[in-house]
Amino acid sequence: MSEGSLHRPLPVDAVPGWDIETDVAVIGFGASGACAALEAARGGARVTLFEMASGSGGASALSGGEIYIGGGTDVQRAAGFDDSIEALATYLKLAGGPDADVAKCDLYAAQSLDHFEWLKAQGVPYKGTFVPGKIIEPATDDTLIWSGSEEAWPYSEAAAPAPRGHVIQWEGWGGGRKLVDILERNVREAGVDVRTDARVLSLIADGARVAGLVVRIDNRLVHVRAGAVVICTGGFCMNTDMLRRYAPGALKLTDPIGENDNGSGILMGMSAGGDAIHMDEFFTTCPWIMPESLVKGIFVNSRGQRFINEDCYHGRVSRTMIDQPGDRVWLLVDNAIFARPIDLARIDIASVGETWEEVERDLGLPEDTLSATVRTFNRYAAEGHDPVCRKAAKWLKVLDEPPYAALELGFPGSYFSFFTLGGLSTAPSGEVLDRAGVPVSGLFAAGRATSGLPRSGHGYSSGMSLADCTFFGRKAGQAAAVAARAVVREEIVAA
Ligand SMILES: Cc1cc2nc3c(=O)[nH]c(=O)nc-3n(C[C@H](O)[C@H](O)[C@H](O)COP(=O)(O)OP(=O)(O)OC[C@H]3O[C@@H](n4cnc5c(N)ncnc54)[C@H](O)[C@@H]3O)c2cc1C
Repeated sequence: MSEGSLHRPLPVDAVPGWDIETDVAVIGFGASGACAALEAARGGARVTLFEMASGSGGASALSGGEIYIGGGTDVQRAAGFDDSIEALATYLKLAGGPDADVAKCDLYAAQSLDHFEWLKAQGVPYKGTFVPGKIIEPATDDTLIWSGSEEAWPYSEAAAPAPRGHVIQWEGWGGGRKLVDILERNVREAGVDVRTDARVLSLIADGARVAGLVVRIDNRLVHVRAGAVVICTGGFCMNTDMLRRYAPGALKLTDPIGENDNGSGILMGMSAGGDAIHMDEFFTTCPWIMPESLVKGIFVNSRGQRFINEDCYHGRVSRTMIDQPGDRVWLLVDNAIFARPIDLARIDIASVGETWEEVERDLGLPEDTLSATVRTFNRYAAEGHDPVCRKAAKWLKVLDEPPYAALELGFPGSYFSFFTLGGLSTAPSGEVLDRAGVPVSGLFAAGRATSGLPRSGHGYSSGMSLADCTFFGRKAGQAAAVAARAVVREEIVAA
């Protein structure tokens, strides 16, 4: 057997012969794999990149190409926003949840401005213009948007708010393809040997050290000897078995987004002793904030109770919806703010009434639940505050203009796109760590195959995943090149 499996590395003794020898082998040609390959090649390593699809892309190419960057970029300053490394670091740590990766947050905040310059130096264009308001992605080719919960409680109290969603210049949604195309051009110019239609089946282990890969190319098993391996295979939102086992909360949802998010890289990393952490975490969102007037509505659960300040990032609000009892929540709006949500969201009108009591009855809720919630909200909103959920004053509107409506967001039913955030435990250098926190020799990882900067679905902000993929992909590539050189040195000494 010269194959190994996702769950068991092939021992080096069982390798029938080496078909490819390289310093650094990168698995996956999305944003993280591209950045890892590029920096490893620029670090002087011979790099071979293996991608199971017929070309580059992954989820990265489907994305909006929006990257969470701050600390006072030229774009932020031109739009009149002050930002600082401290504010960015504080926000990232709060967004990362109770076990935020403090070292990664601090490093990313400290080098975020440099990273922005690096992206520009690769040829990623930024128009430099800001679009105000709550949007998912710009419909235009503008660059800077509010992409998180910066202005909402509790974030607004912890860190000075600034918009940090930096979007590649691209007309409309979906600039990710352009981002990956630009990275691919650089990867090829740097001399990386790119192998597509090449599915990695298993790692090869030389004792405790990862020493290569088994790859299926043209229906043939290819044995690759590598000084270091970088896993950049994305998450596991498309692997139902892994969702059942590790992230059952996501089984409420039916719209995974990605390309080949099959979890294979995470499993391979675990097979070599790598730890996988925060595997239950996932990002989800239903695009309920469009049109923006809906943000002035209030959400209630199946008990008629509110559960969040609705002015948070739409993903944070959506993720909190999934925690609620039952299989639906309702967005309550009055005639003044009513608007039909965008079709993509698959949000229906569940009830319309002349009074909130009528809506409550119509939804089958016990008397004085939903109506009491609205009464309490309206009482404080009239005073200009929201002591229950702390929605900011500018989004408060007394819901007192009939008719009243309850818009229903169901799971499944409505469009809750999701992808996973858990993955291999890595150091900021990209080294994969075992359960004792010790690096697995020869093994690196980046992007959604890891638990990185965006660690918590409740704290996720748009742009955090690509920030993590591009920045820590670079770090992993740099460190892998150094590790591969050390292996070559050892082999020379041994000879
Ligand atoms: C519609 C959409 C919009 C989004 N918008 C944004 C946004 O604007 N900003 C943001 O930060 N995030 C966004 N995201 C999330 C973000 O795009 C992803 O989390 C991120 O791109 C993941 O990058 P990656 O490099 O880890 O994985 P990917 O880009 O998915 O790349 C992984 C690659 O590995 C390959 N692969 C997998 N297994 C193997 C194997 N065994 N052998 C060989 N190859 C393999 C896959 O084919 C794939 O090409 C969006 C996602 C989607 C789907």
